Amino acid sequence: MALLLAASMGAFGVLAWRRWRLLRLARPEARFDQLGERFRRMMRMGVGQQRMSRYPLAGLAHKAIFFGFIVLLLRSLILFARGFVDAPGFGYWVFDSGTLLGNVYALVKDVYVVLVLAGVGVFAYMRLVARTRRLTLSAEGVLILVIIATMMIADVVYDAAGLALHHPGAGFSPWEPLGSLAAPAFAWMGDGAKAFAWHAGFWVHVSLVLGFLNLLPLSKHFHIITGLPNVFFQDLTPPGRLRPIADIEGKIERGETLGLRTLDDLTWKGVLDLYSCTECGRCTDHCPAAKTGKILSPKAITVDLRNHLYATGSSRGATKAVEGEGGGVTLEDIVPAVVNPEALWACTTCRACEQECPLNISYVDKIVDMRRHLVMERGENPASLNGAFQSMERAGNPYAAGAEDRLKWAEGLEVPVLSDLPEGAKDRVLFWVGCAPAYDARARGIARAMVKLLNHAKVDWCCLGAEECCTGDAARRAGNEFLFQAMATGNVETLKRYGVTKILTVCAHCFNSLGNEYPDFGGAFEVVHHTQFLAALVREGRLTPTHRVETSLVYHDACYLGRHNDVYDAPREVLRSVPGVTLVEAAASRDRGMCCGAGGAQMFKEEEHGTQRVSEARTIQLVQTGAKTIASACPFCMRMLTDAVAKQGDGAIAQMDVAEVLLKSIEGEIA
Ligand code: SF4
Ligand code: SF4
Repeated sequence: MALLLAASMGAFGVLAWRRWRLLRLARPEARFDQLGERFRRMMRMGVGQQRMSRYPLAGLAHKAIFFGFIVLLLRSLILFARGFVDAPGFGYWVFDSGTLLGNVYALVKDVYVVLVLAGVGVFAYMRLVARTRRLTLSAEGVLILVIIATMMIADVVYDAAGLALHHPGAGFSPWEPLGSLAAPAFAWMGDGAKAFAWHAGFWVHVSLVLGFLNLLPLSKHFHIITGLPNVFFQDLTPPGRLRPIADIEGKIERGETLGLRTLDDLTWKGVLDLYSCTECGRCTDHCPAAKTGKILSPKAITVDLRNHLYATGSSRGATKAVEGEGGGVTLEDIVPAVVNPEALWACTTCRACEQECPLNISYVDKIVDMRRHLVMERGENPASLNGAFQSMERAGNPYAAGAEDRLKWAEGLEVPVLSDLPEGAKDRVLFWVGCAPAYDARARGIARAMVKLLNHAKVDWCCLGAEECCTGDAARRAGNEFLFQAMATGNVETLKRYGVTKILTVCAHCFNSLGNEYPDFGGAFEVVHHTQFLAALVREGRLTPTHRVETSLVYHDACYLGRHNDVYDAPREVLRSVPGVTLVEAAASRDRGMCCGAGGAQMFKEEEHGTQRVSEARTIQLVQTGAKTIASACPFCMRMLTDAVAKQGDGAIAQMDVAEVLLKSIEGEIA
């Protein structure tokens, strides 16, 4: 036992040190704040296995194995000790066979042996029989299942043969149900054979435990060690916030890398993400790009990056060792050596992958970081984005429209513009119109409906008029951080100049950017989405929907409202307040809602090659509910869904913003 422990622990030490060294080579990142909150999340999401239940059967199977491993850890420690202590029932005295704790533990252990075997059976069925699409059929995955099952069976053999040898004819024991039930299978053997089986069960179990330990750093099962730390060190800032590149101008002047170019640009948390992926495929299973035949697979990005990390591990150690001596190894650029640029540009930044991942692995930050390098250093963005970039630079919006047209949406309406108000924004909520409602013919209806509702509720409001510029959201998601920072800084200056404190948006992207990202540029405003604002006005009785709007209606969750900002109930609350409306839900809704295909700057570029457009796939899901109206709460979603509905030629489906539905009930019609 001493030799076995020393050899396996020594080998594990070497393997773990290699992984630790790669972590140490990575860039620093501050993730040691809010330790209490981190611990709570780790207990809920990691130990509580919260996200596992999103796939009920696999979730139950994983919970059985996860908790089984925790319970059986003590069993393994007891067996290691029995290798040294000449007492068959030894269990650190309190867990000795026959003591109350020992009996209770033996029973719980047996229950979990059965549960672990059942869990292994479920995963074997999923991999080998059902061939579940999201799981990759690999020899490693099957080997691990065989090892776990053998460990469990060896444990039962050890108990059963031990009982048959030491307590022949003892009969069934409620404290050791598995061992006592299996003991008769050994009763016919001679003492020598019983002893052999007893020893075999023991050595097979302990050897497999130690062998399994050494397999961990070499396999996707490394998550058994890194999973809880990865959940603990998750990003606690709002999910919709991207990390700014600090001192971007200085970095450009100094010729430093912008974004993620090689493995050297990954932070230690990025490396921990790679270590922690279990290859469960839940991320890809819900990725709208993957669902519509694009070559993007978030799981593949992680697995390929991890393989690249391991393959270059030793040479990176050498680079470190000769640092400053003119030597070293040149790492390949991740794009295109590891990640296909087409996959990168197919991402809508919808966060469906991150929402599903049981290990809290992040994707959007890495994908946008890779885009940053491509755009700002190599100028390798899709050509279809050039127009939007140029327009944002020159005209302050991605629609190639002039600032003088910014108020065209409001023709015929009375609009208080800040530059005309001597007192500035004092006591007024600033209606941030956004570029789509300002320039997109269909989306203008949202801004007009909103203004009418504000006036109905007698809200003191104002807007920036021609001084409003794009928030820069699309530029940032497309990787043009330099342009985004310039736009954000300019907007913050304008807003501060007028003393703006509260901002109302009708666009989920503006809502996210202004609320979650502008604080990084000195713009800490109270930002509210129009569905939240309208829900509050209805609740307070300042808006009363009266006319019946006889329609069945399905609400489409905008990613930047739902998954990025946890706003799911407010739009539904507004819609439910409208008499006559029957609200139905799509099978994929709320945090599982499918993206409309506009996010991540997709709105302003050609969609990557696939079998279907994302917007069309989503529209089919919504139409399948049988609803007569699709309601949305973001002008980007409206544009994508309206186009997709028109393309399907289904004139029977109406497409309206939540504000338009409410206005219809208040005014009886939409002007
Ligand atoms: S953010 Fe959305 S589109 Fe991008 S990889 Fe994740 S699931 Fe796919
Ligand atoms: S990233 Fe997360 S969801 Fe995707 S395969 Fe890995 S563990 Fe599963």
